Amino acid sequence: NFSLEQLQAMDAAHHLHPFTDHKDLRAAGSRMIVSADGPYIHDSEGHAILDGMAGLWCVNVGYGRDELAQAAFEQMKELPYYNSFFRCTTPTPVLLAEKLAELAPKNVNQVFYGSSGSESNDTALRLVRHFWALEGKPEKQIIISRQWAYHGSTVAGASLGGMSAMHGQLGAPVPGIVHVMPPYGFELRQAGESEHDFGLRAARAVEEAILEHGADKVAAFIGEPVMGAGGVKIAPDSYWPEIQRICRKHDILLMLDEVITGYGRTGNWFAAQTYGLEPDTITTAKALTSGYQPLSALLVGDRIAKSLVDKGGEFFHGYTYSGHPVACAVALKNLEIIEREGLIERVRDDTGPYFAEQLAQRVAPHAIVGETRSAGLMGAIEIVRDKQTRERFPGGGVAAVCIRDHAIANGLMLRAVGDTMILSPPLIWTRETIDLAIDRILKALDLAAADLAG
Ligand code: PLP
Repeated sequence: NFSLEQLQAMDAAHHLHPFTDHKDLRAAGSRMIVSADGPYIHDSEGHAILDGMAGLWCVNVGYGRDELAQAAFEQMKELPYYNSFFRCTTPTPVLLAEKLAELAPKNVNQVFYGSSGSESNDTALRLVRHFWALEGKPEKQIIISRQWAYHGSTVAGASLGGMSAMHGQLGAPVPGIVHVMPPYGFELRQAGESEHDFGLRAARAVEEAILEHGADKVAAFIGEPVMGAGGVKIAPDSYWPEIQRICRKHDILLMLDEVITGYGRTGNWFAAQTYGLEPDTITTAKALTSGYQPLSALLVGDRIAKSLVDKGGEFFHGYTYSGHPVACAVALKNLEIIEREGLIERVRDDTGPYFAEQLAQRVAPHAIVGETRSAGLMGAIEIVRDKQTRERFPGGGVAAVCIRDHAIANGLMLRAVGDTMILSPPLIWTRETIDLAIDRILKALDLAAADLAG
């Protein structure tokens, strides 16, 4: 057994962390998470921390599920690996594909597997371009995305994404990707403009990009139904129906990135159902296995699938771990748990509305909170120095990091994104867990407000 200090020294010497300033990390040392149970993670120093982020938006059924470990163990003993190349496959990816087709919107019935959301978006990007080539329109190549979108960290994922910090380096963005304004009302809605009108204006930014580049050059629009890593930005109700209408009008494919929203987070299996959409592709990962195994599933609509089958020809694309039998076995068991325990109905009818109400009633009035918002069990708290003018604290995100650190010290893991606090807890949270989390958020806000005033 190693001490925390020994592990931290090895970590600093050899381990490069994702999305991390390594100079900072070396100075502070990593927190070592060593076990977890239900809604709690435990660190090496014996702290139990309520996990307000479900790991990284993924552990929807909570921690400590023996059934998932058992499913992996049994599949590993039976057949740990075989691929789906060479006209072979194994049973679990097949059973999972059938299950996903049952759960997905009606027009979506095929599945292409990978190991991560980023990989799955690479697949989606290549697949929609391949589709238009099969359809005899190879010039339809441009993908329209949005500023602040997060679609992953591979070169294609970072290119589809609209995070400026991820562009201009390492080959991203690749050519043929255009970013337009997101439906982020808190900062972009104009004085006197209604939510409804703002939603339509944001959707029209997509249509303007289509017209600017020519519909004959545009392959698809991609969007997260609720932007996650960009700050849980929730579109007004008018936005998504207008996006669907614009895509149909100009014959542009609709690609949804449901890596976060898939598998229950917004109170339906998919946010496509929450917003009544008929997408051509749905990227999913994370909660497909509740994070117990790395697995992604790109759900493919009938229009693309029909073209692949009817036109034939090899789609030169695939991963060693496409349809990994162990990951798929875990996914099947995970979906069974979600169904058996009615977790999605609970989010839709009980905890989702309660979460929204508690954020609005208890958190929104706080002196340094500019707005709270949520969709199912994903929520955001906007941090401001001045409630009236919505002026932010100086230092670009320093205030949110201060709140996050106080929250963790008081037993709640949440995330800081710019000046926004993010919550995306496991779907097993109850009203009591929400109450406890909100108590801890209020304490962190008070402590941070005092620090920031000083
Ligand atoms: N798309 C969205 C919406 C995400 O939130 C993420 C990860 O957070 C990804 C794609 C990338 O997924 P992964 O980290 O599994 O590659």
